[in-house]
Parts: sequence; C-alpha cells; structure tokens
Amino acid sequence: MTRLLGKAISGGLHKGIARVIDSTQLVVDHQTISSSDVDSEWQRFLSAIEHIIKDTKGLLDDLSLAVSDQEILNSHIMIMEDPEFHKAIENSLSKDLVCLESALNKHFSYMVEYFKSMEDEYFRQRADDYADINERLLTHLTGKSNSDLSNITASEIPVLNEVIPSQIISLFNNKVSCICTEHGSETSHSSILARSMGITLVTELKNIKSKIATGDLLLVDGNEGVVIVEPDADTLKVYEIELQEEALEQAKLKEIINLETQTLDGTKISLSVNMELPEELDRIEALNSDGIGLFRTEFLYLETDMLPTEQAQFEVYKKVLERMKDKPVIIRTMDLGGDKFASDETWDEDNPYLGCRGIRLSLLKPEMFKTQIRALLRAGLYGKLWVMFPMINDIEDYNSAMSIVKECVTELESDNIEFSNSNKFGTMIEVPSAALTSSELAEVCDFFSIGSNDLTQYTVAVDRNNSTIANLYKPNHPAVLKLMKMTLNSAKEWGIPVGLCGEMASNPEYIETLLKLGFRSLSTGPAKFAKIKETIRNINL
Ligand code: PEP
Ligand code: MG
Repeated sequence: MTRLLGKAISGGLHKGIARVIDSTQLVVDHQTISSSDVDSEWQRFLSAIEHIIKDTKGLLDDLSLAVSDQEILNSHIMIMEDPEFHKAIENSLSKDLVCLESALNKHFSYMVEYFKSMEDEYFRQRADDYADINERLLTHLTGKSNSDLSNITASEIPVLNEVIPSQIISLFNNKVSCICTEHGSETSHSSILARSMGITLVTELKNIKSKIATGDLLLVDGNEGVVIVEPDADTLKVYEIELQEEALEQAKLKEIINLETQTLDGTKISLSVNMELPEELDRIEALNSDGIGLFRTEFLYLETDMLPTEQAQFEVYKKVLERMKDKPVIIRTMDLGGDKFASDETWDEDNPYLGCRGIRLSLLKPEMFKTQIRALLRAGLYGKLWVMFPMINDIEDYNSAMSIVKECVTELESDNIEFSNSNKFGTMIEVPSAALTSSELAEVCDFFSIGSNDLTQYTVAVDRNNSTIANLYKPNHPAVLKLMKMTLNSAKEWGIPVGLCGEMASNPEYIETLLKLGFRSLSTGPAKFAKIKETIRNINL
C-alpha cells in the first residue's frame, strides 16, 4: 500500500481501477513537400480546422455547459480561427516547404513554450489550450492519438501527466468521475472544468507514473488530495465506513428535506439556498428549498478571461429561473472588488474591502453593469426574479443603481427586445450605513437581505479574511444584532420581506438567536441546508 499526497482540486471519495495513460509526444512524420503540394496541404489544413471547429461547436451544443466551460471552448475556436495562426501555417507550407503536420507541430510547440515561459500563472496555463488544439488537429490528420481516452470506462480512474480541457470533456462523456494527475493547478481551465462537471481531481502527485500501474486499485479522496494505491484490508474498511457515512448523511438529508421547515411551536420559516455556480442546480433542486436566497454572480466573471456577454448571462439566469419554477430566485448583481477581481479589473487599492467593490464598481463601469442588468431583465420572463444590489451604502446608491435599470428598460423597449416588468429589486444590508438608514431604503426597495458576513466585518472593524483577529469577528456581537434588529424593524414598518443570506444562516449555533431576533427567512449554503432545517425543527420560540 502506498499513500500519495497531492493537491485537492475537486472533491469527492472514489474507489476504482487505475488506467495509466501514456501521453508521450505524438510522433508525426516530418516530411518536406514540393511547391506543387502546397495547395493540397493548405486544403488539408482548412478542412482539418473546419472539422475540429465543427467538433468543438458540437460539444458546445451537446452539453449543458457552464458559461466558463463555453468560454474555454469558444477560446479554442478563436485560436483556430485566428488569421495570424493561418498566416503562420501558410508561411511554413509555402516557404519552409514542410508538410502540414510539421507546420502545426512547429507553430504549436512555439506557442506552448511561449505561454509556459510567462511569469503570470494564468498565462502559463494557456499553454494547455494550445497543446490541446495541436493534439486534436494531429489526431484528426494522422488518425493516431497520443492518449486514447475514448474506451475508458466509468469504473476506471485515469492517471495522467496532465489533463487537457478536451480530455476532461471526453472523460465526462464516458462517465468517468475521478482523475489523478502529476501536473495541474487550481486555476487551469482543466481544473475549472473538472470542478464544474463534478469530476474529482487530485493533482501535483509527484512521479505518479512510477508509483501507480494500470490495474492497481486506488482510493481517492478529492477533499484531502490523498490517493491510496493498493490499499490494505484495514484501509479499505475505513474507506468503506467513510463511504457509508457519506451515504447515511445523504439518506438523512433526503428524509429531512421532505419535512416542513418549522419550529417546535409551529412557526414556519422560509429556508432558501445560496448558489455560486449554475452547475449546483441539480443538487439545489433536490433540496426542495423555498428558493434561491443568493446567487453570487461574480463567479461568472472570475472563471473566464473574458467578461461574460449579455447573451451568455441571459442563458445562465434563464436556466436558473426556469429550473426554480415559481420559487423566488434572488440574483445579486456582480460583487467584484474586495477579494474578487475579474481578469481585466485588477488594480491596487490600500483597503480593497473599503474600496471600489460591489455596486460602487458597477456604477463606475456602467457599460459592464448594463450588460448584466439587460440580461437579468430579459431572463426575468422565465421565473420569479428578485434582483439584488451588493454593498449599497444608502438610498443615493440604490437610486443610482435603479436609474441604470431604468436606462436598460428604455433601451430594451426601443430595441423591441422582450423583458419582464415584474421583477423585484432590493438591496443587501451589509454596510452599517445601510442598516442605519434602512427605514429610508425600505420605502423604495422591494426587499432586503442581510449580508451578515460583511455587516459583521464593517461593524466590528475586523477583516473577514484575517485569521489573526478571527476571535474578534463575531456575527452575534450585540452591535451587529442591533443593526439587524433595526433593519428588521424598517422592513416591518414598510411591509417588505427581509431575509439573511450570510454564513451566519449556515451555522446552527446562531439560528436560535436569529429566529428570536425576528428573522423568518434564511438562506444557507447547500451543504448545510439539511442541518439548518434540522436545527430549526428543534427550536422552540
Ligand atoms: C455577506 O456579506 O454576508 C454576503 C452574503 O455576501 P458575500 O459573502 O458574498 O460578501
Ligand atoms: Mg457581502
């Protein structure tokens, strides 16, 4: 038995048979050609490109891919359509008089090395995309493949030097649920794809191919980054117990989700779920919640190297709204800044949490904001949409945000584009000034949702990410509870709904306090949903 420790990229527990994939460099014949062959080689190039682009578009159609995944495949199409790339191949064919395979290898080897030599981690990882396209083109042209994953089965665990994005998709199609690699990183496109497709991925397993052989039994813990090769009987027993615990947890969850969310004295509580990525929809749907209390949309921006388009966002929001049917879905406009930056939105600020974050950034970049608002207004036709603004300070901020909404409404009307007029608009209460002026805000907002994570950090002046002073970060500090009570009272005064969607609602310790303070609507992370429901059912108000 050998225990390997790697880096946990995408979670899950798995037992399976190793299949070591030989990914030695694809061997191509380097032939010279005569000038009379140039045209036919060029035609082969055009038809290979056309084939792979068609293939890639097929992947885009077939799978219900997340925006991030679509962006990866779209970036591959862009690389293949790039006139500079075509020019480089044309030059190699006509000037160097080499065959198409050689021309492609030369071009892509250069591109891979170029990206690999970059300092920026993000650009280094783009080398994978070029290697991926080269392999697909050469496999198509030569009929050979350097790593045939097409006949891999669901019970096998592929072991590779590294995995490229198109391989993840092909493994996903073969129902493979776990991958182990020697090289990889958190933010590579492959890792993004694995996470979003629910495939367990452990990487940074040093010398993996000398330690694992095809046919070995593997136990993989994607939560801890541990791979056990040929486990002994005791380890297998422990693993089986862990699997059973997970299964028991699932069974318990299934039982609880069908029960009413109410306290022992019969007070009904609305319990919704927070969502980060549309890939979580299946899991969220199964929870039988009262809706989505917070969809943090900034992850749509963080996972890609391009800003998400209006259409791409529209598709995501539409899908979420349709799936949640008549249950309210609170979609929060992008909360970039603080510790979350989109690729082209990085700048230095001394105090990013007190800087250009959330609605402040949206108002500074109205075009970017309008793209999102237009997508939301259009998607509102497909469900019960509540649009929420983050980091609102006061009524002035809220009115500024709403004036952009009005501009978008006017634009959509004049463009004859269908949109919904019945969406609700509200604000997060997560900045003390908003809580303190919540009575004014409640008069104009359709709803409130308290962001206890930020409300706590701004009230007690403790950075929510600072572990040194984590003991001072108290969501149940009397000052925070006072601001919450103030907000609850303002909402009551103006008759608008108010909920709480911060992490406090995912912590069983705080539930009784929150309910006794007056909350009747909470939104929790999906993993804690059952636990919180169980906690509520054991409280007597
Ligand atoms: C919060 O601040 O409580 C909240 C829900 O927003 P985020 O954690 O995304 O800042
Ligand atoms: Mg917040």
